[in-house]
Amino acid sequence: MTVILGAGLSGLSAAAWLTRSGHPATILEKNIKVGGLAKTITHGNFHFDLGGHRFLTSNQQLQAFVSDLLGEDLLSVPRKSQIYIAGKYIDYPLTPLNAVFGLGLAKTGTILLDYGKEKVKSAFRSAQITSLEDWVVSQFGRTMFELYFKNYSEKVWGIASSDISKDWVAKRIDGLSLGQFIRHALIKFHQHKVKTLTDTFLYPRMGIGQLAERMADLIQTENTVRTGAAVEKIFHEQGRITSIQFSHSGEKHSIQGNNYISSIPITQCITKMTPQPPDEVCKAASKIHFRSLVIVALFLKKKSLTDLTWMYFPENTVPFGRIHEPKNWSPDLAPHGRSHVVAEYFCNTDDPIWQSSTKAMSELTTDHLEKLGFLGKGDVLDSCVLRIPYAYPVFDLQYSRHLQIITDYLDTFDNLHLVGRNGMFSYLNMDQAMESGIAVAEKVMQGIKNKETFWADEVPTPCHQFLQPKYSS
Ligand SMILES: Cc1cc2nc3c(=O)[nH]c(=O)nc-3n(C[C@H](O)[C@H](O)[C@H](O)COP(=O)(O)OP(=O)(O)OC[C@H]3O[C@@H](n4cnc5c(N)ncnc54)[C@H](O)[C@@H]3O)c2cc1C
Repeated sequence: MTVILGAGLSGLSAAAWLTRSGHPATILEKNIKVGGLAKTITHGNFHFDLGGHRFLTSNQQLQAFVSDLLGEDLLSVPRKSQIYIAGKYIDYPLTPLNAVFGLGLAKTGTILLDYGKEKVKSAFRSAQITSLEDWVVSQFGRTMFELYFKNYSEKVWGIASSDISKDWVAKRIDGLSLGQFIRHALIKFHQHKVKTLTDTFLYPRMGIGQLAERMADLIQTENTVRTGAAVEKIFHEQGRITSIQFSHSGEKHSIQGNNYISSIPITQCITKMTPQPPDEVCKAASKIHFRSLVIVALFLKKKSLTDLTWMYFPENTVPFGRIHEPKNWSPDLAPHGRSHVVAEYFCNTDDPIWQSSTKAMSELTTDHLEKLGFLGKGDVLDSCVLRIPYAYPVFDLQYSRHLQIITDYLDTFDNLHLVGRNGMFSYLNMDQAMESGIAVAEKVMQGIKNKETFWADEVPTPCHQFLQPKYSS
């Protein structure tokens, strides 16, 4: 039997894959709902994701799996997003006309000039690139960095762009440069389409959580999904995991398997290990961090706010980083004649935003949306605030050193496999999280031990995300 820790998309995909092949599996999920970060919350007749989740993949097998699960409930949704800069709303991704009218001819000229300068510089000497700032300036020029990348990434991560590792950004927009970006904007090149610049995406009719729920239904035809089951201890002996202790309805339980797949945050995986791992490993786990998220949903008397998918707010004058109106993703997410808007606040758990009351957060969001001209106070019927502690693994300049110590240790366990965004401490999107679960399920079914292959290489067909609005995915 395989015991899976966490019922986010990675854990569910692993279990679904095992179930389809007749392998016994049990998932332990501490939340009462499955889906993890990709769940959909219901509030009366309104439904919303924890920040809109669009599904994109270039993996046909995965796409077929998702289509099979959702059938006619899988919608193809046009993407239309804007970014708010210097008091202007600019279409994102940029179109040539918008770039000129939105930014002005002079700014557009400076961007191109800057980019040219970087290209000339790099032809003569290869600069040392360690941070997000170094990388973006080298690929896009300094003006573009300051306009589009700096504020937003600093808002998302809460640290200076010069302290964010280039690993993160380079992985996400691998190979994409201003030249390629302009080519896309001008001719929408289709042969070498950059996945995240596509104009449509897939989305379940009842919110992204429907995908997780359909997987849970599939798993439960043969296997078990235990929600409300919080993993407390991971017992091990002689290089093997021997059992898991979890609490459910206030009682302690134990479960044993031959293989264990963990998608819970990697730092928790370390702290729950019993006996405790060596000091050096515990210390490394205390040095890697996750960024948190506060979600504020306002339920409105209004029929509609915008026709947009996402709207990005990089500047510090606006406290949230992004908003979305779920109705524009699927009309079934709001009752007839009503709409709602969801704002994302990136923060740490010791920030005032995280500690603020529900009332204060609702008022803050309403005030700013009113200032921006989207609604009036009288439009707000109700609100809902959610706090998500493990939203983004933080790639600061030191993370890889600490992560290496942790993974070297976890790799010594034959029957423990790490999957998912927080489980692997890797910036995975949904498709990649699912692929990581599927790859490990294949490995388990083939009897391949953890250390026989390095887990980070196991994610098939990594996809390249365009950086800017995708910062907050
Ligand atoms: C705001 C936001 C927007 C995003 N938008 C997009 C998007 O548009 N497109 C896209 O592709 N991706 C997007 N993503 C990324 C996507 O959400 C993740 O890639 C994916 O959901 C990760 O799934 P996972 O299974 O790896 O992790 P998680 O969803 O974190 O699942 C881990 C699970 O483990 C459970 N768990 C934790 N501790 C314990 C414990 N002790 N015991 C038992 N269970 C435990 C958690 O409750 C959770 O259910 C977005 C992410 C965020 C934060």
